[in-house]
Amino acid sequence: MKDGWAPASCHGVAGELTVEPALGIDPMKNVIKEAAAEMGCPVVTDLHGPPHYSLGFGDVHRTQRNSTRCSTAKAFLSVASGRKDNLLIARHSTAIKIIFDESKKAVKVVIKGVSCPIGVRKEFVVAAGAVATPQLLLLSGIGPAKHLDDVGIPTVIDLPVGVSFHDHAIFHGLVFSVPSLEEQPSDPFGQFLSGRKGPLSTIGLMELMGFIKTESTKEWPYPSVQFNPVRYPQKRFVSGLLSQEVEQAIQDINKGTDILVMMVFLLHPTNAGTLRLRSVDPGDLPVIESGLLTDPRDTRTLLEAVRFVEKMAAGKSFSDAGVRLRYINFPGVGHLVPGSTSYWEQAIKSLTSSAFHPVGTCPIGDVLDSRLRLKGTSNVRVADASAIPKPLSANPNVPAIMIGERAAQFILEDYTSEDSKI
Ligand SMILES: Cc1cc2nc3c(=O)[nH]c(=O)nc-3n(C[C@H](O)[C@H](O)[C@H](O)COP(=O)(O)OP(=O)(O)OC[C@H]3O[C@@H](n4cnc5c(N)ncnc54)[C@H](O)[C@@H]3O)c2cc1C
Repeated sequence: MKDGWAPASCHGVAGELTVEPALGIDPMKNVIKEAAAEMGCPVVTDLHGPPHYSLGFGDVHRTQRNSTRCSTAKAFLSVASGRKDNLLIARHSTAIKIIFDESKKAVKVVIKGVSCPIGVRKEFVVAAGAVATPQLLLLSGIGPAKHLDDVGIPTVIDLPVGVSFHDHAIFHGLVFSVPSLEEQPSDPFGQFLSGRKGPLSTIGLMELMGFIKTESTKEWPYPSVQFNPVRYPQKRFVSGLLSQEVEQAIQDINKGTDILVMMVFLLHPTNAGTLRLRSVDPGDLPVIESGLLTDPRDTRTLLEAVRFVEKMAAGKSFSDAGVRLRYINFPGVGHLVPGSTSYWEQAIKSLTSSAFHPVGTCPIGDVLDSRLRLKGTSNVRVADASAIPKPLSANPNVPAIMIGERAAQFILEDYTSEDSKI
């Protein structure tokens, strides 16, 4: 391992999913790292291991191969695409119900628009994600009996599916004007296509992340907040996650200058939410109550994170680099003094969204056993983010992939062992 990198035990080397290190072409990366160091935060080469274990600021690896996205399809399916005997991929096929026999064994799966259900020979593995997996199970009669009764679905197994829903929140209200990048390649597409280089080969500033414990969470064993900076060149801001008026207010700042939005992720919201069916119609989206910001401690943690960034902004690195905090004139700000506690509390209410990191709707423990098998059945497994019982201290994509890999291992072990009954 190179200097500053975590030991090999913290990095897999032989798996299907490839990652690539950050390329670091935005000068704001160094400015932010210097500002973090001014605050006494560790600035590390590798966030994955000792000595700080995911605390501090550093570049993250990207799930990429040869500078393009390494999706799960590329990593896992493309290598198996030649298999004719045990792999069939049916596109545009939505499972809407699992049919169980009297012994609560899954026997068939109903696909939307297909008249004949598909038979289950050995196991049915559900991997529809933390929203659609609980929806499918609930539609199939696996869930809290009371809720199923209310919706009008006969209960097959009474399990707390969808009773917990965990997500991260993102606060979008820390906006800075920053100098434009000096050297913009004239032909970024040509640069990428000929050498896999240039801005199109990176995710820009987002490859820098910071993880801290705020004042009131400093005794925690893990970070409570994650920072993720994003640069928007002039007139390019659009998030799609905020109200039109708030987007407009940020676009007004972005009219004459590049902006940096320091996204603040609340990693461990105090209250879990819930996921419930709206009706028996599989086409009806489920009802999600996220639980985000329902406890004042969450607002306090975000406010402490905002104050941390304000301090960073007041330091030498930001001012030398010409980076300036801008206060957004969002609806409801009224007479509030920019930068005051009431201003930020109102901003946290108006400028916070889901991070789209749902987990925990079919948690290991209450709903699944430790080998991802659905409790009370003999042949259903769940292999996605819904199995993760608690919010994570970082983004969930790779942990969700890891769950898929573990499920594959469990299945191999269960069906190839000496005493396998199948
Ligand atoms: C906008 C956005 C940005 C994100 N950014 C990041 C990020 O930067 N980093 C990160 O770590 N995570 C990120 N995430 C979260 C990450 O995508 C998820 O944690 C991860 O994809 C979860 O994997 P999964 O296998 O559980 O579910 P999914 O990836 O959602 O896979 C579920 C699959 O099942 C299919 N499906 C759904 N219902 C059915 C059905 N009834 N029948 C058949 N098939 C079905 C879906 O089409 C999908 O292909 C982001 C999510 C969103 C929405």
